[in-house]
Amino acid sequence: MTADHSASPALALDATQLRTLLDDVGTFIYAKDLHGRYTFANRASLELLALEHVDQIIGKTDSDFFAADTAADIARNDQEAIEQACTIAREETNQVQGSATVRTFLSIKKPLFDQQGQVCGMYGVSTDITAAKQLEWELRREKEQLRVVLDNLDATVYVKNRERRYLYANKHIAVAYGKTVDEVVGQLETDLVGQELSDLFSQADRVVFAEQKKIALKESFLSPDGKQRHYWSIKMPIVFNGEAGLIGFSSDITELHNLQEELKNLANTDALTGAANRRFFHDTTAHELARSKALLTPLSLAVFDVDWFKRINDTWGHPVGDRVLQAIAAACQKGLRKQNLFGRIGGEEFAVLLPRTGLADAQRIAERLRLAISHLRFKDLPDLGPISASFGLVTCLDEEMTCDEFFSRADKALYQAKAAGRNCVCVAA
Ligand code: GH3
Ligand code: MG
Ligand code: MG
Repeated sequence: MTADHSASPALALDATQLRTLLDDVGTFIYAKDLHGRYTFANRASLELLALEHVDQIIGKTDSDFFAADTAADIARNDQEAIEQACTIAREETNQVQGSATVRTFLSIKKPLFDQQGQVCGMYGVSTDITAAKQLEWELRREKEQLRVVLDNLDATVYVKNRERRYLYANKHIAVAYGKTVDEVVGQLETDLVGQELSDLFSQADRVVFAEQKKIALKESFLSPDGKQRHYWSIKMPIVFNGEAGLIGFSSDITELHNLQEELKNLANTDALTGAANRRFFHDTTAHELARSKALLTPLSLAVFDVDWFKRINDTWGHPVGDRVLQAIAAACQKGLRKQNLFGRIGGEEFAVLLPRTGLADAQRIAERLRLAISHLRFKDLPDLGPISASFGLVTCLDEEMTCDEFFSRADKALYQAKAAGRNCVCVAA
C-alpha cells in the first residue's frame, strides 16, 4: 500500500457515509432536542425499538417507546446533560413497551450546541451491559452463597499470603480471634495470635508455598485461653484476587483427640491399679532399650513381686488383696518421676523402667520403693501383718542385650532376692 498525502481521501466523508458508519456501530447512538424529541437515532436504536425507518422515531420521545418509569429516568438524565451543559455517564435501565425484558445500559450523554453556542439538545451513546450486569449479579449471588457456606462450616477457613497476612477469613476464625471478619482481613497473623503461635502455623504454610502442594496435618498448640487445642488442617495453594496465597480449612478436633488419648490410655493401662499394663510396659521397654543403645545412655529395670501375697488373699480375702495391690501401686507411682514408667506385669508382680538411670541411682530408687511398700498401713482394715516385696534390678550397659534377656536377668535377680529372705533388692550379675 502506498501513502498519497496530497489527496487526503479519508476526510471526504459526507452525511450518508457518516450515517452508515454510525449504523454499523453496535452501540446505540441518538440525539434529542430540548424537549426530549428524537432528532437522530442509529440503526441499533431502531432495532431495539423494532422500528424499520428513522422517520418512525424522529419527533417522538422516550415515553412513546419505553415503560413509563424507565422513560422518566432516561428523560431526567437527558435533562441533566442539557441543563448542566456537561457530560454525564450513567447506568440506565429501559424496558421497551410490551416487552418483559429490562435492559441495562451504560450511557454517556453530552449537550449539543447550535451555531450561537446555545444548548439546543443532547446526544448520547449507550452500550448494552445487560449481560455483564447479569454476570456481575450472578457472581455477587454466588459469592454471597459461598460466604454463607464458609461461615456455617464447622471449621475455620482462611486465606493468607506469604507474609502471613490474612486475605480472607470466615466468621469462625474471626470469632476464635475474638474479632469481626473485617478486623481480621488485612491483618498480620503475628499481630493476631502472637509470634510464637504464628511461627508454629507457618511451619506447614511454608511447605505449601515452597512445594505448591496440598498438605493435611494435625496442629496442636496452647490456645490463648490457656487450653491445649488440636486442629486437623488442610492447606493448599490458591491465587486469591490475583495474589499468591494459601487457603486453609482447620477443624477443631480437640474433643476427638482427647477421646483418642483416653482410649489409648485405657488400652495401655491396668484397670485395677492404673499402672501400665504388661503389653505396654514390654513395648516401651523394647523402645527405650533401642534408644539407650543408640544414645549410649544407661537404662535400668527393676521388677518386684509381693512377698507372701497368697497369705493375704487366703487370710483376708481377694478384695483385700486387691486393695493391697492398689495401695502398693499408688505408693510406687507417687515416688517416681514422669520419665519413669511403672507397670503391673503379673498378678502381684510390678516393674519400673528407669531411662537414663545408672545402677547406683536405680538401686537408690528401688530401695526407696521397697521401704515405701514396707511402710504401708491401712487405717480401715485390720492389721494385715507385714507387707513387703522383693526386687530384682538390672542395668543395661551392654549393646548386645536383647529385651528378653533384659527381663530374664531382672527376674533372676528377683528370684535371688526371694531366696535371700525377701524384702530386699538384688542386682543382676
Ligand atoms: P512369694 O513371696 O513367693 O511371692 O509368695 P506369694 O504368696 O506371693 O507367691 P505366689 O506367686 O504363689 O502367689 C501370688 C498370689 O497372687 C496368687 C494369686 O492368687 C494372687 N493374685 C494374683 N493376681 C491377683 C489379683 O489381681 N488380686 C488378688 N487379690 N490376688 C492376686
Ligand atoms: Mg508372683
Ligand atoms: Mg509373690
